[in-house]
Amino acid sequence: MTRRSFSISQVSETAGEGVLDIPSLSVLRYKDPETLLSDFEGLWGVRASTVALPVLEPDGLLFEVKGLRGLPSSNYSAPSARLKSFADVVKVFLTAGLDITLTLYPGHGFIPGDGIHTRDIAGGSANRVCIANPRTSQIFGAILGTGIDIANEVASATKGSGKVKGVALDVTELWGISGQLGRVEKTCFCTACIRHFDKNAPDLLKHYRTFPNPWSLLLRSASSTGMTHVSDVSASMSAEEIVGLARQRKFDEQFPDLDYADLLRMAELLLRYMRVRHSLTVSAIGALFDYACEGLEDQLTRVVMLEGELYGWTSGLWLEELDSSFAEGEETGYDELWLDSGMPYVPQHVPYRSYMWSRSRYYISQFFQLSGALCDPRSRIHTGLRHKTIEECRQMIVERWQMVHGSALNAQAALLTLPTPPEATPDARLGFVGVGLQQEYGKWFSDQLTIPPTSSERRGVLLGPAASSPMGLNMASILEQLQNRGDDD
Ligand SMILES: [Zn+2]
Repeated sequence: MTRRSFSISQVSETAGEGVLDIPSLSVLRYKDPETLLSDFEGLWGVRASTVALPVLEPDGLLFEVKGLRGLPSSNYSAPSARLKSFADVVKVFLTAGLDITLTLYPGHGFIPGDGIHTRDIAGGSANRVCIANPRTSQIFGAILGTGIDIANEVASATKGSGKVKGVALDVTELWGISGQLGRVEKTCFCTACIRHFDKNAPDLLKHYRTFPNPWSLLLRSASSTGMTHVSDVSASMSAEEIVGLARQRKFDEQFPDLDYADLLRMAELLLRYMRVRHSLTVSAIGALFDYACEGLEDQLTRVVMLEGELYGWTSGLWLEELDSSFAEGEETGYDELWLDSGMPYVPQHVPYRSYMWSRSRYYISQFFQLSGALCDPRSRIHTGLRHKTIEECRQMIVERWQMVHGSALNAQAALLTLPTPPEATPDARLGFVGVGLQQEYGKWFSDQLTIPPTSSERRGVLLGPAASSPMGLNMASILEQLQNRGDDD
């Protein structure tokens, strides 16, 4: 008897266009472009038609940008002996016939000084810039814009090849959250954000300058894992429903002195805050794209990468709102979303791609930020990282990657779980995004990092068990310290 062919064997044919995401150019030191592309095809059964390349790394610039002299150059600006520059990387993929989408995480805090950094409600400054600050849109817009120009130059000199097609912002972590029990310390309260809130919701912020504040209805500190949160919150929910969610998760315990009417008032203040934060974030994203794309002949597709939850606490965005604004033909500032589509809400109007990793780019970006911080002499002095030896740092990276890779959806079979719209409704999904990173990448990546020694290592002092901090894997607290540099001294 011959083996039968089942309909699921056609999954790759219905998966749509494949995008290969290369979140860091370090990946090209690990595997050459040809191997990455053949791995992609081997895994997904689809040849990648577009490659997503970063224009910036956590450890510095990948190319010169006018106006940003003095900033460090990334260790990966010349990724390999063969690919000696960002332009070389663009060229090799264009020549292979792929289109290019340039990606950027607009939060790297490598600009000296605290001027454009985010601030939490307690006044702590974080090692991350605030996208709401017009200066941030300009700086990151210029980095992205210069990347576009370099890629366009290469494309015009490489006839009959792929083209520069889009730009994508990773907004999975714009607004940090930290805190202890009963205290939610959320960003951002920098001067730019305060100005925006004062204009759009006068008097709202004063309710957040105390603890517990309205956030505690849906956010709570958990000692071992950082913050826990409720994200199944839609923009159309009533205050009663918010209080219901708080009670369901017992978050209302954080308000021992409040009665039901007080909790409802808190919920209204929370909803107002979320609305203002959403509109602020959407306009900041649009401003950055506008700055980067001003004067371009060909319009580029503007992509927003987000986790895919109904409400993203760290992106400040309501997914349904992004979808409905697009449907209503508003001037949205974005054309496409990349998200983890295994979440409760699937876009029906705005075109999207399924990002094949749980929580989309969130864990991956955090991983590269952490490694950037490990290699940054300032972070090695000013944060809890100073207690770790170089070897401990390497081990931390390996273990962290194991955790991050645990969220990978790296299997053709995972394509079977992508949402299919009900009969007779158009499918807004264009395809999927696969990440070219496997389990063994972590050890390789860790071994090649250049991690500066701590002052005690420089002095040749051997740290006894009492002096070294426990290794542990409490990344939440490490990242929190990175985000609240300065507070730790
Ligand atoms: Zn801000």
